[in-house]
Amino acid sequence: MTDQTKELIDKLQVKPGVKVKLKDGDARGERLFRDEPETRAETAALAEEINALQDRLYAERQRALLVILQGMDTSGKDGTVRDVFNATGSIGVFVHAFGRPSEMELAHDYLWRVHAVCPRRGTIGIFNRSHYEDVLVPKVHKLLSKSDIGKRYDQINDFERMLTENGTVVLKFMLHISRAEQAQRLQERLDDPRKRWKFNPGDLEDRKLWDEFEDAYETMLEKCSTTVAPWYVIPADRKWVRNGAIARIVKATLEEMDPQYPKPAWKPTDFSVV
Ligand code: ADP
Repeated sequence: MTDQTKELIDKLQVKPGVKVKLKDGDARGERLFRDEPETRAETAALAEEINALQDRLYAERQRALLVILQGMDTSGKDGTVRDVFNATGSIGVFVHAFGRPSEMELAHDYLWRVHAVCPRRGTIGIFNRSHYEDVLVPKVHKLLSKSDIGKRYDQINDFERMLTENGTVVLKFMLHISRAEQAQRLQERLDDPRKRWKFNPGDLEDRKLWDEFEDAYETMLEKCSTTVAPWYVIPADRKWVRNGAIARIVKATLEEMDPQYPKPAWKPTDFSVV
């Protein structure tokens, strides 16, 4: 891992049990990268490297990588998938978007639907929203008692520890945008006919609860950033900063996992292709 990446991780990783204050000013990620063109080029190169490492992960079939993306509406969860994993062979990468739970899903415990779509060995799974909705939404809308939500933080930590102990590395990115940036992005969705389909009037209702969501995110970060599955707060007001930071962390993580091509039980010289 380069010193630059170590420094980036140190800045963005949430230390276990530490209370994070999500300040609007931090959503720009000033001083994280030198300049935009250089970072964009670096991200494109990193996407290629992520692809090469993913090929090794797929061939090895021993471990998996789970990338969790959380963030307010318009924070760029879809865009991150497009920009960081655009070079990655689609055979070994799965994206799962979590919407409101169905009746069937609600008939089970909240982790049931999540566990069912966790990446299998050899693959990268990306969650667009996740089980963290199950602590954020109940806290903001006061659907569960404080003590029940408290239990869920512990259950989630246990669940993620179980995943990591069974060969899944867990990376969690909270895409941090400012309230002003969200206003601009929602307005764009209204104004641009090609983006209008993304506009959901319900997003305006959630926007009214910005402070409550921010508070719920801060608690989630404090309670669920663990040594085995840490949270990263990614400045996401500028897409190139967001992409640059996530690409570096994903690449460094895969590099650290160091997946190996399996050694066949035969020698290439045992065969001849005619
Ligand atoms: P997005 O807004 O991510 O593009 P959708 O329009 O499908 O996608 O919105 C997903 C909605 O589902 C969000 O409002 C989110 O809070 C909600 N949601 C996801 N998971 C849960 C959950 N476990 N409990 C309650 N609401 C959830």
